[in-house]
Amino acid sequence: MMNRTYEKGIYIHIPFCVHKCIYCDFLSAPADDAVKYAYTKALINEIRNTADKQVIDKQINDNQTRDKITSIFFGGGTPSVLPDGCIADILMAVRDCFDIEDDAEITMECNPGTVNESRLSEYRAAGVNRLSFGLQSADNNELKMLGRIHTFEQFVESFRLARKAGFNNINVDLMSAIPGQTEATLENTFDKVMALQPEHISVYSLILEDGTYLADNIDKFPPVPDEDEDRRMYHMTNERLHSAGYERYEISNYSRKGFECRHNLLYWNRGEYYGFGCSAAGFIGNERYSDIRDVKKYIELNGDIEKLHENIEILTKEDAIEEFMFLGLRKMAGVDVMDFQRRFGVPIENVYAKEIEHNVDKGLLIRQGDMLKLTEYGIDICNTVMSDFILTYGD
Ligand code: SF4
Repeated sequence: MMNRTYEKGIYIHIPFCVHKCIYCDFLSAPADDAVKYAYTKALINEIRNTADKQVIDKQINDNQTRDKITSIFFGGGTPSVLPDGCIADILMAVRDCFDIEDDAEITMECNPGTVNESRLSEYRAAGVNRLSFGLQSADNNELKMLGRIHTFEQFVESFRLARKAGFNNINVDLMSAIPGQTEATLENTFDKVMALQPEHISVYSLILEDGTYLADNIDKFPPVPDEDEDRRMYHMTNERLHSAGYERYEISNYSRKGFECRHNLLYWNRGEYYGFGCSAAGFIGNERYSDIRDVKKYIELNGDIEKLHENIEILTKEDAIEEFMFLGLRKMAGVDVMDFQRRFGVPIENVYAKEIEHNVDKGLLIRQGDMLKLTEYGIDICNTVMSDFILTYGD
């Protein structure tokens, strides 16, 4: 009989928002409380049925495998728009069904203006120990243009309430390359946010996603910073955050020492995770899957996991190798070549000798001991570097 412990994460998707932002292509929409309660019930059933299936699978395999959950992430949408008690109920179900590590990281995304003192206390009491505020900008004109529901002042109040409720691990999501944004307005955003001293800051460039209002009407908006301006903003971001004591540990993520996001690191290290909720993606064994995207149907299926999963993809060894490179190179620490050999049974040079040599020669990659990582120049054109690591076969 085998007796192993597997570390895994859990992602939980809450597909509701107060209002749709004009650039958003996530699965999210406004809904009334009846829908939110019905969704919560279906979600809890999905969690319970998944755990039951794991138990049956383990008995069939005659293993005594026990999952150890190291991180839980409530994303969306806006998880903080669920009615009182829902987050606590979901977490209670997760605890019933899985073995949660004592110091597991439990993150909840919140939008400024959607939390109050009692809700934040409820989250703390339920075990949430990390908040992630979607601020995007400290400039109220930029926020209004993006269709955000809050002002910077409302964010400051939500942040203050979060600290008061005892949250000592807070991320703030920010955005660059917003139409009309300049280096000066972005720098001003950093100044205002850093004055609050969050433990973690993410800064992603705005991407114009097909089918969003912004992409379809881009001519009606101020110009989007071009690629050169975007890179200048990226370099300024790195310098400003670095000089304020934030370490960049992934291309777009910065934190104070010890406050790196464990859940995201699990993704970038190709760790396994369950995905629960509409459109939630999971990765278990060598299988990637996601849940159906239709909220009404999700509620009707009420946790029937045989019918909830779609886009099931069984990864080949080549897929796994590519993912290991794409995800690993996003980390500033880079990929561990010894880890590559342990996972795939061959030295990295047997698969990528030419690609590594070529990118090192061009100053895009650097080898330091066992680590292979992007240089600053490599970060600027990381998509080009990563495309070199796509494996082609059959010819
Ligand atoms: S708050 Fe986030 S998930 Fe909701 S509409 Fe805006 S960008 Fe999309």
